[in-house]
Amino acid sequence: MSRIEQTANELLQLLNQGEISAVELTQNYLDRIAVADRQIGAFLRVDADAALARAADIDSRRQAGQPLGKLAGLPVAVKDVLCDTDTKTTCASRMLENFRPPYDSTVVAKLKAADAVLIGRTNMDEFAMGGSTENSAFQITRNPWDLDRAPGGSSGGAAACVAGGMAPLSIGTDTGGSIRQPAGLCGVVGLKPTYGRVSRFGLVAFASSLDQVGPLANSTEDIALLLETIAGHDPQDSTSLDVPVPEYTSALDQPLEGLRLGIVREHFAEGLDPEVETTVREAIKVYESLGATVKEISLPHSKYAVATYYVIAPSEASSNLARYDGVHYGHRTAEDCSLVEMYCRSRAEAFGPEVKRRIMLGAYALSAGYYDAYYLKALKVRRLIRQDFDAAFEQVDLIASPVTAEPAFKIGELANDPLSMYLVDLYTVSANLAGLPGISLPCGFSKTGLPIGLQLQAKPLAEETLLRGAHMYQKATDWQTKRSDRV
Ligand code: GLN
Repeated sequence: MSRIEQTANELLQLLNQGEISAVELTQNYLDRIAVADRQIGAFLRVDADAALARAADIDSRRQAGQPLGKLAGLPVAVKDVLCDTDTKTTCASRMLENFRPPYDSTVVAKLKAADAVLIGRTNMDEFAMGGSTENSAFQITRNPWDLDRAPGGSSGGAAACVAGGMAPLSIGTDTGGSIRQPAGLCGVVGLKPTYGRVSRFGLVAFASSLDQVGPLANSTEDIALLLETIAGHDPQDSTSLDVPVPEYTSALDQPLEGLRLGIVREHFAEGLDPEVETTVREAIKVYESLGATVKEISLPHSKYAVATYYVIAPSEASSNLARYDGVHYGHRTAEDCSLVEMYCRSRAEAFGPEVKRRIMLGAYALSAGYYDAYYLKALKVRRLIRQDFDAAFEQVDLIASPVTAEPAFKIGELANDPLSMYLVDLYTVSANLAGLPGISLPCGFSKTGLPIGLQLQAKPLAEETLLRGAHMYQKATDWQTKRSDRV
């Protein structure tokens, strides 16, 4: 099956005009998955029968003239971390290998209400801990641009399925970069919304003060469409913001004349690959040609962001993952042993090495005697990082930066070197620490043909400006139309 070239918005038009049925479209994607995913490995599970049945139901309701949801008939892939009563939610962990949630997450419920066709569940780093998807307990996912390379992570499956033409839209989560980083490495668009913009109800928690759910797609218009569908207040998530959802799709097409674009002095420093630097600087020139004014700013505490994140995220993770005790949730050891031993064995058997490392790091940082020195201190630095951004957004509307310092790395290259893997998060973790929205969009390729991403960040709830900034760039360039021909 040759790949489907159209964007989600274009497909939606074809569906609405009756030029293609939901069943035909779903079948086309299933055929593509059957061929391409043998090589890429983006999906953990695809339930073809359920997807086709759902598509058939949408087609018959359309024929009967019944009102349909916003995404009627469009296939959407979902990261295997959001509860859905129709399938398991494994978080790519042996711990939840057989977990069937008793309720839908709000995001999944909204997708169902919008008449999306949920086509499959995508691979990820176990419990979203990682940046390469190599920490999945079940399989490796490959980057569609170079099958020897990682797609990034933790939403590697979500990015690779869009980049590989196996779904027009997908849902990922981002705690320290897990939507933007794989989007950047796979050459697709990925948005981390403002903390609280999208409900986290039914999202399996990693680090609750950082986690956000967001969309991945081939264009900013598609991102706006999916964000509009999943955003909004949810009384079941006390951290969700009670503010109206703008019509993101109608705010995209406005000139950038007068937009103030910030470039962070500390970002263009040692460690940044020269090719990535040149490409990102070229993108910034495009903004200037579109009427934006570019201003150099400073985020003096950004050099502490990775260290701060790797205290706070594991601390929260160690607390969130305490629930997996072999009694309430997930895997229980088959050994006949005492209660305490049962806890220990169940956890030792079912968690992978990275998850164990995070739990140990977090438990250490939270323990009496170290709490003040590590956790409390990290919270203070987090505040300083947020204040840097507050000051910066007095002067600029958007901040432009690389997404990662280098293009996609080889599978296995960083897997045994946690510190190098953590440093990949240099440009992305700050947005989570400060609760800001950020988007990653393709802005060029390395000489070896690997995608390079541009990141834009905005102040909280300024998704409209962010999407407009991304869209106008995409109108002026054609990077987002490039597709890998490797699969
Ligand atoms: N790579 C980061 C980590 O391992 C981010 C993960 C994420 O955003 N879920 O923590």
